[in-house]
Amino acid sequence: MEIDNLVRSNVKRLQPYSCEREDYKRQGFSLLDANENPYGGIYRRYPDPLQQELKQCLREVKGFAPERLTIGNGSDELIDLLLRTFCSPREDNIITISPTYPMYGIYAQVNEVEIRESLLDKDLMPVLEDILGRADKHTKLIFLCTPNNPTGNTIPLDTICRLASRFQGLVVVDEAYIDFTDSPSATSIQDRYPNIVVLQTLSKAWGAAGLRVGVCIADPAVTGWLNKVKAPYNLNSFAQECAKALLQEQDKVQAQVKEILRERERLLEGLRQIPDLRIMGKPEANFILVQHGRYRELYQYLLDNRVAVRLRDMPPLLPGCLRITVGKREENDKVIRLCQTFQ
Ligand SMILES: *Cc1c(COP(=O)(O)O)cnc(C)c1O
Repeated sequence: MEIDNLVRSNVKRLQPYSCEREDYKRQGFSLLDANENPYGGIYRRYPDPLQQELKQCLREVKGFAPERLTIGNGSDELIDLLLRTFCSPREDNIITISPTYPMYGIYAQVNEVEIRESLLDKDLMPVLEDILGRADKHTKLIFLCTPNNPTGNTIPLDTICRLASRFQGLVVVDEAYIDFTDSPSATSIQDRYPNIVVLQTLSKAWGAAGLRVGVCIADPAVTGWLNKVKAPYNLNSFAQECAKALLQEQDKVQAQVKEILRERERLLEGLRQIPDLRIMGKPEANFILVQHGRYRELYQYLLDNRVAVRLRDMPPLLPGCLRITVGKREENDKVIRLCQTFQ
């Protein structure tokens, strides 16, 4: 499979915006090339469009080679960027596996790209033959989410391999919650399957949703195109610096993740005791999907008691569900207590 053949023709013709001042910056040149105010504060300069220092940190901490990385303003921007780079409006299509994260479909709609939906089976696993049966020569991207939001299930690497080997486009594996599981990342099989694109983020386990930093790990051919299409200054200087500092605190973050996982088990145990409430899926991330016959009333009851959870009514597979994020100990206690008193 030739990656370049997947790229939109207008993107191929694109003469990208170029600015080659990062070296001049480092060498202390007089920077009279970007119309900045020289009297401004520490953020008077435009940020590095290729985020090179941040990518070096990602190499040290995660082992990702910088030439395989595209950094986004959150992984949401990267989802949009993949669509804008590879999918021609009103011509190409993508496949999503429902129920899943809604942003794949939303960005596809915004970009006027057709969405083909394959359903999870009753064990909440993707059905390979069904997915491949929906693909045609205009299918550029298949979005997988593992652990899946909102079911919590992970997809076995073996399934991802089989899909990638039989599909002539890119398999996008959204690993927003990968740090909560022991399941291996799809980055470990990218050398065998260059059409696998992995998305990770600092928003969930890394505790920095407000920074807006997402990472796309992909074949250098894919990465080259993404970096051409993205806005040059998509990640501001402050976010780049904070992200670098945060990546140095991996031990602290790992301890927080461990605590969240302990709390998840406690919350699960408490919720299992509630009559009429069913745990759905297999919670492998930092949330639990539950089903309740009177889910709207339960949702409102929680709100009345100043607890916000997410309404997730997803028929036919998962009707009447609520997605509950694992919070701090006292918050989880409160959820359990409220579920007990709800009637
Ligand atoms: C939260 C979430 C994201 C969004 O990540 P950002 O980096 O904050 O944009 C992406 N994918 C899934 C599945 C998510 O749940």
